[in-house]
Formats: sequence, structure tokens, C-alpha cells
Amino acid sequence: MEAEVRPLPKMDYVAPSSLKEAFNLLKKYKEKARLLAGGTDLIPKMKKGMVRAEVLIDLNRIHRLSGIKQRKDGLHIGGLTRLAEIRESPLVKEKAPALVQAISLMASPPIRNRATLAGNLCTASPAADTAPPLLVLDASVKLQSGQRERIVPLSEFFLGPQRTVRRPDEIVIEVIIPVQEGSSAFLKLGRRKAFTLAVVSAAAFARVRQGKFEEVRLALGAVAPTPLRSRRVEEALRGKEVNEENIARAAELIREEVKPISDVRASEEYRREMSLVFTQRILAKVDGRG
Ligand SMILES: Cc1cc2nc3c(=O)[nH]c(=O)nc-3n(C[C@H](O)[C@H](O)[C@H](O)COP(=O)(O)OP(=O)(O)OC[C@H]3O[C@@H](n4cnc5c(N)ncnc54)[C@H](O)[C@@H]3O)c2cc1C
Repeated sequence: MEAEVRPLPKMDYVAPSSLKEAFNLLKKYKEKARLLAGGTDLIPKMKKGMVRAEVLIDLNRIHRLSGIKQRKDGLHIGGLTRLAEIRESPLVKEKAPALVQAISLMASPPIRNRATLAGNLCTASPAADTAPPLLVLDASVKLQSGQRERIVPLSEFFLGPQRTVRRPDEIVIEVIIPVQEGSSAFLKLGRRKAFTLAVVSAAAFARVRQGKFEEVRLALGAVAPTPLRSRRVEEALRGKEVNEENIARAAELIREEVKPISDVRASEEYRREMSLVFTQRILAKVDGRG
């Protein structure tokens, strides 16, 4: 049953203009505080009573948290960067096409104008659409608290639905996508063609040399408690010749990796079957034959 939507409860609101100020506020309020980015996930959840906070710390005035930069080690996308900006970025289109394809299939233009990259990852929804492309691109997340910072591979970031390794005093500063040669792509199955959450989503990255998979990575969304990097399918394909038979055989292994649930969008059985179909389709999309 859908939770009842109520007006937002009374709470304090602060809008720091620097990271230093934000860290001090997090230190002061700890678990009582919630960080606000685009608010497209947090505010509806608060109105439904699913998330509570005594203090809302709005990150939107901290401009250094937004923007896309190319550095020696790769692409750095600020945590507060809006999905719409990422989708339009020529740099991201060139270096991370799977991410652009995923964002193009997310929500609606007004939501993409508000919603942020870190916000999408921090929801830790199994269906968060930016997760599969970032997983196959081997992205990492930079977390910071005061002077202390750490870089966590995205494959280690998610712990379960709505749970990540982020500590309550940490802010996601940026997402780093390493420099790499190869192609990436994303596909999404929803109950409609647009403006819908994924029933199953799939992303793949491949570098093919002399007709063989020199490197291949696969990730699926909405079929396990966290977005899933499929190491078994990857291992079965690495070094193998690119052909339909090898892909079909490796794709079968996805059945053992997914742990789907039945919900309002689809049954467990349907998700399991579609995991196989979308594994085959996404690998066919990046294998360099098309
Ligand atoms: C109608 C509708 C359609 C949607 N469609 C989709 C869809 O197709 N695909 C999809 O994946 N999602 C979808 N969403 C969910 C949501 O829009 C996205 O997850 C969005 O990217 C969340 O980003 P935000 O900036 O709005 O996050 P917020 O709502 O501001 O925050 C979400 C969570 O992240 C935390 N957070 C935000 N920024 C940081 C940071 N820098 N550091 C640490 N914690 C942080 C917040 O504290 C909060 O817990 C939809 C939502 C709506 C309302």
C-alpha cells in the first residue's frame, strides 16, 4: 500500500555556503541531520514519513560541489551536478556514453534539472539508474568529512536497499570515472517507455581486440538488494572470442547471480528471465560487432 502523503513536518533548515560550514553542521547535528541536494527523492520520502530529520542541511549553495572536469586520472563529476547537465556534457558523451543513455531514460526533464548524481547514488535504490553504468565504468566515489577523505570503488559503496558505506558525517564530493579505452552502453526495461523506474536495467563495458574480449564488465539494476556487478559473466567472457555462442553461454550464469524480488512493478520470475534477456542484449550492444 502507498504511504500517505502529508505536509512536511517542522524542522530546522540551514544552507551553508562552504564545505567547511557543512562539515561543522554535520558534526554538530550528526544523525539528526539530513543532507538535501535536488530533494526529488528525500522530500517525497519525508512527506510520506519514511525519512525523518530534525535539521535539513541544504548543499545547493556549495558551488564547488557541482561541475564536470577532465583530469589526468579521468572524469570528475561533482556530487551536486544535476543529471541534466551531465546528460548534455560533450565530455561525458564521449567518455561515458552509458551514463548519458541511463540519464536520458530517467524520470522527466523537470526532475533531471533538479536531481543530482550523488543524490541518485545515495538513495541506494537497487533501481538507481546511474549505478549500473558507473559500475561498469569502474567509477569511484570520493567521500569527505572535515580534513579526512577516502575514495571508495562504487562496487563497494552499496550495502543494501537504502544503505551505503557513507558515514553520517560524510559528504559525497565527486564521482571519478577512470580513463579507459572501450565502449559502454545502457538498456532499461520499464513498465512504460519513459518516466518509469526500472524493472530491469543493464549496462556493459567492453574492449575488444582481435575479435576477443580483452576486457568486459556487466552490471544490472533492480534484480538484487543492491545494483549488481556480474563478476561471473565477466570472468566467463574475458579473453574469449566475441561470438553469439560464447555470449549466450556466459549470459546463462546471470541466473545464479541475480536475487530479484516481486513488487508492484514485476514478479521475481519475470525479473529473472529478463535479466538473461537483457544480459544478452547489452553484451551484443557493446561487443563491437554492431
Ligand atoms: C517522479 C519521479 C521519477 C523518478 N524517476 C527515477 C528514475 O527513472 N530513475 C532513478 O534512478 N531515480 C528516479 N527518481 C528518484 C530521484 O529523482 C533520483 O534518485 C535523484 O537522482 C535523486 O537525486 P536528488 O539530488 O534529488 O537527491 P535528494 O532527494 O536531495 O537526496 C537523496 C539522498 O541522497 C543524500 N544525498 C544527496 N546528495 C548527497 C551528497 N552529496 N552526499 C551525501 N549524501 C547526499 C540525501 O541526504 C538523501 O538521503 C525519480 C523520482 C521521482 C520523484
